[in-house]
Amino acid sequence: MKIGAALGFNLIDFPGKIAAVAFTPGCNYRCPHCHAAPLLGGIKDIGDAGFLEYLESVKDWVNGVTICGGEPTLQPDLVPFIKAVRGRGLAVKLDTNGSNPALLASLLAEKLVDYVAMDIKGPRFLWPAYAGVEGHEAAMAESAALVARFPEHEFRTTVAPIVRGDGEISFLTVQEMAAAARFIAQTAGPEARYYVQKFVPRKDGLLDHRLEAFPETPPQLLQDILKEVQRHLPNTQLRG
Ligand code: SF4
Repeated sequence: MKIGAALGFNLIDFPGKIAAVAFTPGCNYRCPHCHAAPLLGGIKDIGDAGFLEYLESVKDWVNGVTICGGEPTLQPDLVPFIKAVRGRGLAVKLDTNGSNPALLASLLAEKLVDYVAMDIKGPRFLWPAYAGVEGHEAAMAESAALVARFPEHEFRTTVAPIVRGDGEISFLTVQEMAAAARFIAQTAGPEARYYVQKFVPRKDGLLDHRLEAFPETPPQLLQDILKEVQRHLPNTQLRG
């Protein structure tokens, strides 16, 4: 499997685990606020052999692997890679944009993934604008329902500026985030774990450079969103 970058381990990405992190190259979305531009071309590949060797050397104290991206489900060798990781006795967390429900269904049926984190790209009517591409809406809805069936799972949304139909660019609003939360509650149940994340601009690092002029998500907006979203999803926290 292609790996565009890797982290030795951290305590943040995989709740309750000390996890190594594999970033896969390439993505089928073009979220304007995306920080992963260097990964999206899909050219760089450090290879999985070295990563698996590293896991062998740290398996006494690293107990999980987070596979993120880019979009990992685009990798044709994802399943064999996950099996190789599990074969070393390590738990697996997968981060996904929800574009590949068929693969999620197969991972679920084979019990290959312990924890899935799925991006919810705002309220459904804004998914194409938020993701920068059209045509994945049905797949994302199907994926959200599947994600809710994994042993552990979370949904998360970055409160980013959205490029709207009229060309205006503005942050997701409280009402829009409430609509996203209602979708999750209806799809995954009101006990679903949800993280509301702040947008952090990065100079010359975002897919749409116009967003680099925006500040971080205002703290008051995050607080107002949290209060409203928790009415639908009590297990919501701010992150980042
Ligand atoms: S933020 Fe969007 S474009 Fe960037 S990796 Fe995630 S899904 Fe792909």
